[in-house]
Amino acid sequence: MPIATPFPGGTILGYPRIGRRRELKRALEARWAGRTTDAELEAASRALRLATVRRLVALGLDPADGSVPSSFSPYDQVLDAAVLLGAVPAADYFVAARGDGARPPLEMTKWFDTNYHYLVPEIGPDTPLTFADDAPVRWFAEAARPDDGGQAVVTRPVVVGPVTFLLLAKAAAGAPVGFRPLDRLDDAVAAYADLLAALGAAGAPWVQLDEPALVADTVTGHLAPGALAEAVTRAYATLTAVPGRPAILVAAPYGDLRGASGDHLAPLAASDVEAIAVDLVRGSAPTGLVPGLESKALVAGLVDGHNVWRADLAARLAQAARLQAATGTGAVAVGTSTSLLHVPHDVEDETWDGAAGRDPRLRDWLAFADQKVAEVVTLARGLAHGPGAVAEQIAAASAALADRAAAAGVVVPAVRERVARLGEADVARAPYRERAAAQAARLSLPPLPTTTIGSFPQTPEIRAARAAWARGALDDAAYEAAMRAEVARVVALQEELGLDVLVHGEPERNDMVQHFAERLDGFAVTAGGWVQSYGSRCVRPPILWGDVSRPAPLTVAWTRYAQSLTAKPVKGMLTGPVTILAWSFVRDDQPLGDTAAQVALALRDEVADLEAAGAAVVQVDEPALRELLPLRREDQRAYLDWAVRAFRLATAGAAPDTQVHTHLCYSEFGEVIDAIDGLDADVTSLEAARSRMEIVPQLRDAGYGRGIGPGVYDIHSPRVPSAGEVTELLRLAVRAIEPALVWVNPDCGLKTRGYAETTESLRHLVAAARAVRASL
Ligand code: GLN
Ligand code: ZN
Repeated sequence: MPIATPFPGGTILGYPRIGRRRELKRALEARWAGRTTDAELEAASRALRLATVRRLVALGLDPADGSVPSSFSPYDQVLDAAVLLGAVPAADYFVAARGDGARPPLEMTKWFDTNYHYLVPEIGPDTPLTFADDAPVRWFAEAARPDDGGQAVVTRPVVVGPVTFLLLAKAAAGAPVGFRPLDRLDDAVAAYADLLAALGAAGAPWVQLDEPALVADTVTGHLAPGALAEAVTRAYATLTAVPGRPAILVAAPYGDLRGASGDHLAPLAASDVEAIAVDLVRGSAPTGLVPGLESKALVAGLVDGHNVWRADLAARLAQAARLQAATGTGAVAVGTSTSLLHVPHDVEDETWDGAAGRDPRLRDWLAFADQKVAEVVTLARGLAHGPGAVAEQIAAASAALADRAAAAGVVVPAVRERVARLGEADVARAPYRERAAAQAARLSLPPLPTTTIGSFPQTPEIRAARAAWARGALDDAAYEAAMRAEVARVVALQEELGLDVLVHGEPERNDMVQHFAERLDGFAVTAGGWVQSYGSRCVRPPILWGDVSRPAPLTVAWTRYAQSLTAKPVKGMLTGPVTILAWSFVRDDQPLGDTAAQVALALRDEVADLEAAGAAVVQVDEPALRELLPLRREDQRAYLDWAVRAFRLATAGAAPDTQVHTHLCYSEFGEVIDAIDGLDADVTSLEAARSRMEIVPQLRDAGYGRGIGPGVYDIHSPRVPSAGEVTELLRLAVRAIEPALVWVNPDCGLKTRGYAETTESLRHLVAAARAVRASL
């Protein structure tokens, strides 16, 4: 039985791992480049781990009671769990993450509804599942008993829980039909039991097991009714019976434990775990007495771990104070809704000098990770000693909130009025048949037209020019000239390759969302607000803080220039409204659908300007359509309705003879098949090579009857597919759907590839298209 330690009054579910100066990124990349040794990587990682837990103490978390999470990972927390269980040998950690010459990496996919990517473990009937790696124990010990003379911190190790781990895993190749990783629950739980015993022996008062699968029908929807509750009950019965274990906190971030598909709070509350963390930003507070909760702590996820806005402390404190009576819980503690992995480190790291759209007022409206820790500490103090104990902090938060609500730009009447005037006519184009005929006449393309998704390789020269421009070492004219030269080169290459619909190559775009955010009113971009996307990769999501409008055309000059160089059609290339929202920090003071409509209208004006500049084809990319899909099935319809409507708002102003393309890139289309049809794009390109075109018959069966470009070339690796392979994939597509609908294109943009492999692969793609055309 656990050491009797009450749950701390305030905690966070996890903290950014990459380092405020991206120390981990640099250490990893130096190791991978062979510039450092394993020992040097470990030393840098250890320094970062210790600095992090001490920073959390400096910010007000208690150093002695397990308030401070130990949520470090060298690359990914799901991979860590696979290594913990021996499913991936510790020595193969980075091979599993990145592949080596011989072995491919594990598949990577999005973590719940975030833009963080995890590695998908492969579990079969015989995959080892035993307690094989004691990293959580070592990291606990190094902080609790440091040998560097620094402060000791008793942390709370954070590990992905067994149920979620297995639900996120996929069946290993060769597993018998019908096998599911969750079939191995007892083996996995036995390994976790050994981990808990080891943590207890090391003196850990608390351990946190993350079970976000419990809020996500997208992950558990395939299970038989009751199977999830049964798995939770079984797993936690075993784990709570481990002698000498730490007290257990089960965290369920990203949504609601209770929904139409089941009450997943009940089995947790009925178990003998000591604490449950619920997300009160995305999810709702339990209502009514919850049996079993009286003997547990309820960690109330009141501070948003997934967005950057300063919390309304007055409202949150009142909510916390109500919870105890409402739920009958043994104790209420204050927490974050999710790990702080999804937000940058510290508002103070940014220079809020008014440059680059960074409005100085914003600083006061925001809370990054460190500010959120302080909010948790304040709320915990207020809960323990009454609001009077934190009156000053509450007043400051309320004042910032009021300032934000009243600030110019947050509400722009002209934008609101335009959205309010919209009607059904604004989202409808002419019937597809009519459009298709007009487009065929205008474009006169061959059957199986060839194209690419938009970006061409971002060469070291392009990156160097952009960096020099940002530093001021290259002036606007010189930068522009360098990018135009690149566009000319990309157009010439596409002509030489014989592609049918060309692109300008997107050299001028640092990022497909940031590029637009920098040019739209209502957004700010940060200089150093990095957030881990996967492994050593970080992104800087823009901050969408006000009503959105387009002060000037965004992309037209580049498309016009590219079109001036060729007689072939050049696609105008835009990022869609849903993707712009998904990869930004969005305002939390109005429904997302309203924000999407504003972005869509800005894009609609851009489409009109592209048409006026002569573009016959416009592509609006929505690679994140699936990512924002609500985790609970009952919420999905409403989301897809506004998401589809936003895309149509952006595109439906196009003339019938303007061909609208869209691009989607993820491989699980299940829940969004109808939405793809609903977008009403003339041509949809999608990722399909790795799944061998399985989306094509799926779309056909769903009645999809417009252009489709299933990717025939997997751009995620430098491997060059042979013309034969591409031909084979293409034949699968034309056999599955009306060949007149089929387009030939890679899976996604080429920006991460090099020119050598890109050129050869596209040559094979064009050859395959010609071969299959000849046999139609
Ligand atoms: N047009 C973008 C590109 O080619 C699309 C990228 C994406 O789908 N993520 O880079
Ligand atoms: Zn893509």
